[in-house]
Amino acid sequence: MAHRILELPDPLLREVAAPVPAVTPELHALVDDMFATMHANLGIGLAAPQIGQLLRLIVIEIPPNDDDPQAGNRYVLVNPAVRALGEREPMVEGCLSLPGFRANIERARTTTVTYTGLDGQPLRLEAQGLLAQAVQHEIDHLNGVLFIDHLDSLAELEQIPPEGLDWVPEDDDDEDEEDDEAP
Ligand code: ZN
Repeated sequence: MAHRILELPDPLLREVAAPVPAVTPELHALVDDMFATMHANLGIGLAAPQIGQLLRLIVIEIPPNDDDPQAGNRYVLVNPAVRALGEREPMVEGCLSLPGFRANIERARTTTVTYTGLDGQPLRLEAQGLLAQAVQHEIDHLNGVLFIDHLDSLAELEQIPPEGLDWVPEDDDDEDEEDDEAP
């Protein structure tokens, strides 16, 4: 079942989430709801606090892409912990909890995380590119951090139509604007 996504300035988005104590049938149901919510909003990642559950749980599914073997898979990370971050570069990013805005922020191009899988076993993920970016973004949510916190100024926010894959630059076919090539 899809849930309402909390939006800024909901104070729950600023809380630090608690570790998931155990992988239970209830947790599996919550994961199903998170994917339903994420898909209903055309997102590519969602953290449990965004639907009001203050648990260290994130789901990610980036669109299939022939050039990226990690794209198109469903990732469920219980109690994720960042183990390594690669070189940083500016990336276009948005958030379902802040619809209608995006910005260029610096993220590591690669991220290594350890986490618990839905079968309760410890797992490790070496993420690259968009998946690495999503992992960093969603783990930030578990610590009450939003992407705008990485900006020097809110003036760096760009307003966009509040639908679609909100941090993937979309094709502007409705109006002519100069192409500012996003990385
Ligand atoms: Zn977000």
